[in-house]
Amino acid sequence: MKCKLCEKEIENYSQEFNQLVIDNSKVNICSNCLTKIAKWQTKNFAKFFPTKAMKRLQRK
Ligand SMILES: [Zn+2]
Repeated sequence: MKCKLCEKEIENYSQEFNQLVIDNSKVNICSNCLTKIAKWQTKNFAKFFPTKAMKRLQRK
């Protein structure tokens, strides 16, 4: 599984955590990018990603 954003192989891939569904297509994001997004891009990211995924990020 490769990260959609940085295109690196995702370590310890977890469908629960790393897979997001956007417009009915599945996208894999590595935990590194998830962390960066959660810290820096929360507002912009929220426009593009489902609410459930954002809530999951913000709890971390
Ligand atoms: Zn990544």
